[in-house]
Amino acid sequence: MHHSTSGPANFTVSWAQRMLEPMRTQLYINGQWIDGIGKLPVYDPSDGSVIAEVSIAGDKQCDDAIDAADAAAKEWAKSAPRFRSEILRKAFELMTAENEAIATIISRENGKALPDARGEATYAAEFFRWFAEEAVRTPGDFRKSPSGDKRILVTHEPIGLSILITPWNFPAAMATRKIGPAVAAGCTMILKPAGETPLTAMYIVDLMERAGLPKGVLNLILPEKSGPAISKMLHDPRVKNLSFTGSTEVGRVLIKEAADRVIRCSMELGGNAQVVIHDDADLAVTIPQLSLAKMRNGGAACTSANRIFVQRGIAKEFIAQMSKTMSSFVMGRGTDATTTLGAYVSIKERNKIADLVDQAIAAGAKVEVGGVKPEGVGAFYPATVLVVEKDNPILLHEIFGPVAPIVIFDTDEEGIKLANNTEFGLISYVFSSDLTRALRTAEAMESGMVAINKGIISDPAAPFGGVKQSGLGREGGFDGIHEFLQTKYIGVEI
Ligand code: NAD
Repeated sequence: MHHSTSGPANFTVSWAQRMLEPMRTQLYINGQWIDGIGKLPVYDPSDGSVIAEVSIAGDKQCDDAIDAADAAAKEWAKSAPRFRSEILRKAFELMTAENEAIATIISRENGKALPDARGEATYAAEFFRWFAEEAVRTPGDFRKSPSGDKRILVTHEPIGLSILITPWNFPAAMATRKIGPAVAAGCTMILKPAGETPLTAMYIVDLMERAGLPKGVLNLILPEKSGPAISKMLHDPRVKNLSFTGSTEVGRVLIKEAADRVIRCSMELGGNAQVVIHDDADLAVTIPQLSLAKMRNGGAACTSANRIFVQRGIAKEFIAQMSKTMSSFVMGRGTDATTTLGAYVSIKERNKIADLVDQAIAAGAKVEVGGVKPEGVGAFYPATVLVVEKDNPILLHEIFGPVAPIVIFDTDEEGIKLANNTEFGLISYVFSSDLTRALRTAEAMESGMVAINKGIISDPAAPFGGVKQSGLGREGGFDGIHEFLQTKYIGVEI
């Protein structure tokens, strides 16, 4: 593969040209690309064809990855922050120069439309830039105790060998959001990407190697069966930390596994984002912003606007305009120039969306747009708008697709109550032209993040994460590096 440092010429490299070069498809352990115990096909979800076959790890490769990450841990923890910072800066530059190649791989294996994939590749690179800047700014403290009998020194040390597990919906950004702070903090890592989208992760690991990351610091495995393999790792005394992004269902299992050795957990789990649109919202802002919040990644985002509550005064006009916007999406293969709504990662995932819509309709939902599963090949589902009652079962689920269920409410109090009626608490969206009213609603939202009059607020410089069953910990911002650091207090007699 492309070991040269790519320049701007890479912006024009097409997928076809790229395919002529061998892609990384192997496991990466102790600085070596190796085969495991078999092969796993990676599919193009827009037509079901096989893009590549990747190596699968057996017990030995998983053990070897722990050996390598453990062997590298001490020296890496002692390395100069500036050294680690410069590796991340180099990785940012490589990722920026290779944006189009990365976007194409994302689009091919995940199915998302190329503009979404380009956006993800850019966002993913920004985590390297942010954590390059954070690596040299770890805070500490030195002060007099209130009783005056000692000095209080507080320092932060790398927590050590970390397992990083990522989902298929953002195969690049969810990896860099963990690799970035782990490198900045001085932790060694074992990355386990989703089986549906390993090629992007392999590309990023190759890029980290080219950026100068020492061997053993970052290892990549793809176990045949994730459950038992990760469980075994979490019971190995050399493993110190687990950073997981994925469903709440799997997160719960992993928290229980981690409990046996009281391993630190960072959990970025599912969402069921609420939207509260007040009757004074400016629809010229609300419609395009909400459309971004709903349709980024074809709705396969933990931040996707999942339950839309609109106040009665503007409901009719809002539903008409939202339906018009949603019906303008063009479904197709992610890499086609006209596509604005790509395929889902698999037929299985697409069918889950179709089943949720069918159940919603059976429970009385009124279909404004879409709502019919397409015939033929490819894991496609159309942009859909449903008007539902407040007890429709679709409101209880993370839809993870291009489906917008709308509920009409009357008073602000009622809207807030309905919005918070979920076990999830990742992000909320509030639309109003009155800042005081918007802030009042924002403060009442039970979620880790709130967007006001804006459809996308994810930013490497901001703390991303949820409350309730959406997770534990924060990624990005000033908090992100602390998921990979542990605090040490030293008291000194003076
Ligand atoms: P998932 O939970 O099915 O899988 C996530 C990862 O965990 C994959 O790599 C998978 O192979 C692995 N895995 C599955 N079972 C495991 C086990 N028993 N032990 C160890 N690893 C296991 O999630 P998904 O379908 O890939 O992704 C979609 C979910 O991720 C959605 O719920 C979405 O909201 C969530 N998500 C959350 C965030 C966030 O930041 N909060 C971001 C992106 C996605």
